[in-house]
Order: sequence, then structure tokens, then C-alpha cells
Amino acid sequence: MADLDHRHVEPPYLRVMSSYGPPGGESSAAVWDFRLVRPNREQVPGPVNHSLEHFLGAYVRRKHPTIMNVAPMGCRTGLYVWTIGPWTIDALADVLASGLRAIGEAEAVPLANVIQCGCAHYHSLQGVKELAAQLLRHRAGWSDPGPDAHEVRERDLFLL
Ligand SMILES: [Zn+2]
Repeated sequence: MADLDHRHVEPPYLRVMSSYGPPGGESSAAVWDFRLVRPNREQVPGPVNHSLEHFLGAYVRRKHPTIMNVAPMGCRTGLYVWTIGPWTIDALADVLASGLRAIGEAEAVPLANVIQCGCAHYHSLQGVKELAAQLLRHRAGWSDPGPDAHEVRERDLFLL
């Protein structure tokens, strides 16, 4: 698995970025790319990104012990999701969609307090509700990174 050429993708989408396991054996862990907005053209606002991390991180830790974590990308266009064991894209997408639906009904961001968070004021409940609703509206297309998406080619890397 290689990274996609970020110029051509159409988020939101979910895909395996890399998988890990013993040589010759089945993969036993994976890192997923849950891309939320278009790279280099949009960014999730910082407080929204932070609240999304809290919501989905808390949700998967509570309900799915084989999802190790959900964490925002530094570029603020997506989330990394770490899984252990066999996960299909459909199964993982269902879990993430359930977590996003729960945000719509929430009255507070989980763990957004000075005891459990390093920047407890840096959250946006309203913003994360809007982002979750927007992602869910596009749920049917999460398995497709876009008609022009392709993996990074070596000749493109030389340009960078
Ligand atoms: Zn925090």
C-alpha cells in the first residue's frame, strides 16, 4: 500500500494506508487514512479537529478494543485510525459512522476538562456536530477516494 497523490483525492474516504504483520503471514495491524476534507484546499478548524479526536477516540476505546486509537493528522485534513486484527473497510466505516452519529446527540465534548485534556478550552461542539453531519451525508462514498485518485508515482516524488 502506498499513499495517494493528495492532489487528486475526493474526501471523505477511508482506506488502508499500511498494514503490518510477520513476513509471509497475514497482516495483524493496520493504519487507516480517514480523509475528511480536500488536502491543500481545506482544513478542519483546529478546535473541531480536537473535538473530533476526543469523540471518536473515546467512542472506539469504549466499544472496540481492537481499534487502538483515532488521531488527527497534523495537516488537519484527516484522521489516522490504528487497528489490530482483521478489519474490513465496511466494518470500520460502520464503527466510525456510529461514532459520528453519536456526536449529533451529544451535549458536551468527552474528556474536555483540564484533568484529562492538554488544551481543554480548545474545542468546538457546534463545529464538530456540523462536520459529523457533513461526513455522514457522504457515507455512501467513503470507500471511494475519487475517480482520479491514484497512488503516488515515483516520477511525481521527484517533483517534490
Ligand atoms: Zn484534548
